[in-house]
Amino acid sequence: MSELPARLKAFEGRTLQPTTWGPDPVNTPMIRHWVETMGDTNPIYLDDAAARAAGRNGVVAPAAMLQVWTMRTYAEKIATTGISEVGAELKRTLEEGGFTSVVATDSDQEFFAELVPGDRVSVTEVIESVSEEKQTGLGAGHFVTTLKTYRNGDDDVIGTQRWRTLRFRPTPSSAPRPLRPRPALNQDNAFWFDAARQHRLVIQRCTHCGTLRHPTGPMCGQCQSLDWDTVDASGRGSVYSFVVNHHPKIDAFDYPLIVAVIELEEGTRLIANMTGVEPGQVEIGMPVDLDWIDADAELTLPAFRPAARKDA
Ligand code: ZN
Repeated sequence: MSELPARLKAFEGRTLQPTTWGPDPVNTPMIRHWVETMGDTNPIYLDDAAARAAGRNGVVAPAAMLQVWTMRTYAEKIATTGISEVGAELKRTLEEGGFTSVVATDSDQEFFAELVPGDRVSVTEVIESVSEEKQTGLGAGHFVTTLKTYRNGDDDVIGTQRWRTLRFRPTPSSAPRPLRPRPALNQDNAFWFDAARQHRLVIQRCTHCGTLRHPTGPMCGQCQSLDWDTVDASGRGSVYSFVVNHHPKIDAFDYPLIVAVIELEEGTRLIANMTGVEPGQVEIGMPVDLDWIDADAELTLPAFRPAARKDA
């Protein structure tokens, strides 16, 4: 078995797709659909007189529509993969080298003659070149360039399309870790997150009846007063309930992720992560102390770790 680069190079010149004729001849209804979709108002595509005035013998098909005439039909698309034997062989060879990912890089087209209604169109696709291994921003890979040649029923070349893709070996992402999801801040909760940034765990208190409440909100659930202030929590509490989250994973978090309902000694409960403990060691009723997660410059969140003390 020869070396992979040489085997890839040997694909150059091979026919990727043998000559295939378009299912329909060039026709006015398809031209009409295309120019309406593209917003192309040049009259030479639909108006015979305008086309004659422009030196043609009648209407012509838009050059940029070339690819349309040889597109596979819907029935063919659902019945076959559209990948030729040579295409499958190239794909397997690239996969041997770990070049499993693909991205289209560029395409250029040339047009040599105009098509008119009634013309048949065929296309043949050849592998023009397979580059040496290149280092790219996406990873190491080979640029594969193919050349489609379009011909009419008289075997005249009407146009060509060169199509280049990069077949690359994906590298692990070096992107910075995403930030934790942001809380949806509003007038009723911003004070709580502001306090957290100062490492203060505050509890909202009704100044009319003294009831503590969490989550934060504009009105006291006991007396319906809209007046409130805050008290600083001691930071002591216990695990009221918890789950260990394994899935779905969000890149901002470490897993397994403990998500606990903590009951503070003041009586309110909040949801927080736990630190300094393995998931298997968390127990309901476990005494906990306040800790802090300084997630990033803008976000600090309270967390809880097992308390050194024995009683809850
Ligand atoms: Zn109240």
